[in-house]
Amino acid sequence: MSLDVASIRAAPKVLLHDHLDGGLRPRTVIELAAETGYRDLPSTDPDALQAWFFQGKPDSSLEQYLEAFAHTVGVMQTPDALERVAAECVEDLAADGVAYAEIRFAPELHLQKGMTHDEVVAAVLAGFRRGAEGRNITMGLLLSAIRQAESHAVEVAELAIRHRDEGVLGFDMAGPEAGYPPTRFLEAFQLIAHENFHITLHAGEAFGLPSIWEALQWCGAERLGHGVRIVDDITVQPDGHVTLGRLAAYVRDTRVPLEMCPTSNVHTGAVRSFGEHPIDLLRRLRFRVTVNTDNRLMSGISLTDEFAAMSRSFGIGLDDMEWLTLNAVKSAFLPFDGRIRIINEQIKPGFARLRAAAAAAELVTG
Ligand SMILES: [Zn+2]
Repeated sequence: MSLDVASIRAAPKVLLHDHLDGGLRPRTVIELAAETGYRDLPSTDPDALQAWFFQGKPDSSLEQYLEAFAHTVGVMQTPDALERVAAECVEDLAADGVAYAEIRFAPELHLQKGMTHDEVVAAVLAGFRRGAEGRNITMGLLLSAIRQAESHAVEVAELAIRHRDEGVLGFDMAGPEAGYPPTRFLEAFQLIAHENFHITLHAGEAFGLPSIWEALQWCGAERLGHGVRIVDDITVQPDGHVTLGRLAAYVRDTRVPLEMCPTSNVHTGAVRSFGEHPIDLLRRLRFRVTVNTDNRLMSGISLTDEFAAMSRSFGIGLDDMEWLTLNAVKSAFLPFDGRIRIINEQIKPGFARLRAAAAAAELVTG
């Protein structure tokens, strides 16, 4: 069964890797800039600003990519702004048919106007609660430490632990991998592990296998953000025979979830084109692959778009989409009971309905 966009949107979806500061509505960026006195936006017209955020991809420079985040983070410096962005994030995901999402952000980037770390986190959690009211979506928050700001990693880990009963589900580390191996931050990871809390790490996005190995074997990462370079440990012979190296075998054997973001990888130049993305090879080899958006604003995508691209490029159908979705919910940091509830009440019945509708349509047309 091939996938049409309406079915993909209607399907209950699960999103594990998405950045709060990468998913704002262009109009909101403009309104918040006006309210908070931020004067550096390249345009105050929503369409022009949207085009600017998307401009030149996939050839845009790293500088422009970083500048884009400077603007979104620049307007997210008050409790009201953070709460609004968080609430709209939930609204947009729910409208796209997302049943469960873990959204991440780096609290330390939001202290420019005097908020404390705790106020920053409280504002985002309040936004999630407001956005989820009356909508069939469950939200979790991950706190990211920034690799280049190593002095803050322990502080962010402690912050995550302090708010774990209010909706913070784990700890992440983002930022450039090259030159910043995760083992520089062992103290933060040990703190999380000693509290029996959760770790995911941006690892193996553009940088190679050592980053993935350190994340898993030294830092205790339960999931890999991207993890796409694990293909460097996989050999495909001309006759189709596949050999896994020790690390790739470990990742597959122990079912390490890969939070893959194919469009984002194309836009940052980590992978040349969607059709060449290793996600399809990894999926066919039955790694625990999940599909994610990373930065919806900068990439101009939704999770529905991402699955539509998977269907166009790799011919995935409803069964494949359900498998990818179950992979994601099984890998969520939400407590077990919550995961089972989402599987039984939303995912299984949702896909069963879509399968029945597709079968009925086939009877009519066939
Ligand atoms: Zn990311």
